[in-house]
Amino acid sequence: MLYSKSFINTSRENPKVAECQSHRLLLKGSFLYMVSSGIYSYLPLGWRVLNKINDIIRQEMDSAGAQELLMSALQPIDIWKKTGRDKDLEEVMFRFKDRKKRELCLGPTHEEEITEIVKRYISSYKQLPFTLYQIQAKFRDEPRPRFGLMRSSEFIMKDAYSFDLGREGLEENYQKMFEAYKKIFRRFELDCVIVEADSGAMGGSVSHEFMVPAEIGEDILYFCQVCGKYYREKEKCSSCAGIAEPVKTVEVGHIFQLGTKYSQAQDAFVLGRQGEKVSLVMGCYGIGVSRVLASVAEVSSDKKGLIWPKSITPFEAIFLVLDETKTEEIIAIADSLESKGFSLLVDERKEPAGVKFNDAYLIGSPYIIIIGKNYQKSGKIEVEERKSGLSHQISPDKLIDFLKSEYRR
Ligand SMILES: [Zn+2]
Repeated sequence: MLYSKSFINTSRENPKVAECQSHRLLLKGSFLYMVSSGIYSYLPLGWRVLNKINDIIRQEMDSAGAQELLMSALQPIDIWKKTGRDKDLEEVMFRFKDRKKRELCLGPTHEEEITEIVKRYISSYKQLPFTLYQIQAKFRDEPRPRFGLMRSSEFIMKDAYSFDLGREGLEENYQKMFEAYKKIFRRFELDCVIVEADSGAMGGSVSHEFMVPAEIGEDILYFCQVCGKYYREKEKCSSCAGIAEPVKTVEVGHIFQLGTKYSQAQDAFVLGRQGEKVSLVMGCYGIGVSRVLASVAEVSSDKKGLIWPKSITPFEAIFLVLDETKTEEIIAIADSLESKGFSLLVDERKEPAGVKFNDAYLIGSPYIIIIGKNYQKSGKIEVEERKSGLSHQISPDKLIDFLKSEYRR
């Protein structure tokens, strides 16, 4: 893609509304547009990152055996009355009536709706087990939207739901999701701490949270520097008696063994092996997709700007053409790399070098390829590796091998 044709509109000023590092960088780099407090649009740069995040989630969910669907965002309040959560979640629900006076809400979560869907189609134990998931916008009337995508009124979530005949099956499915989550967060290069958690408004017994240590985190964990363990409560460390210090963390994933809370309330059962009625045993598994985007931006930057992990970068490399006479040659090189599957941005604008570098740092590609005056003499282009700060001199015909090896293709 050519910079001059792109809808990339970085800003030199720090946005006044920015409340933290990720919020500042995502607004400044034109990844996000703030519609209103707690409401955001994803601009082309942000959307590219988000789609890569979604691709990784889909790959890992599918390979764990889950099947994707898409539920409605509009939900009738009637299904919420069955579980009593129309009251429990009353304060955070966006509720209203349509022209026929039907009571509706914008889904803050989807346990009730998925249970209604499943009970319509499933009647025998032979149809179990299975796991369904979706990636969708959710809505919560936040009292205090904060930190951009970290706590917003409309946000994107991946939510999965498993259905089993018994406890054993649930535990097996839960373990599968637990492992899939570890792979997903590793691919985002997020160092997650996994802790046992409170099930809260979701109900059920066992639950685990996936937390990213970050200064703006609103959940506190306690970390023992001696043995590296995390705890929910302040107490000496139970393993080594060291002092566990508080660490702020952001929740990016949460998985729950729900049991039969929803299936009993909504009368969702199957006939078991002896023809007996068995309530469906459920698990639910969430990832805050838009929050992942913000969390990566929060922990993966330096003084110059963002440094996206290779797996979710909007562009795998940015070419800075600083010698105008080479523009066409560089565009041809980039075209041939793009035809081999690399996503590249060529900055061929007639702008000073300083402006181009600054924008490349704001966009946050892991590799910046510099074509300067030196190229004329040496025939080598310079590749700046953002994370390590290393610089490589490479001839253009070796670029494909370099990128292939860096991106392990
Ligand atoms: Zn310890």
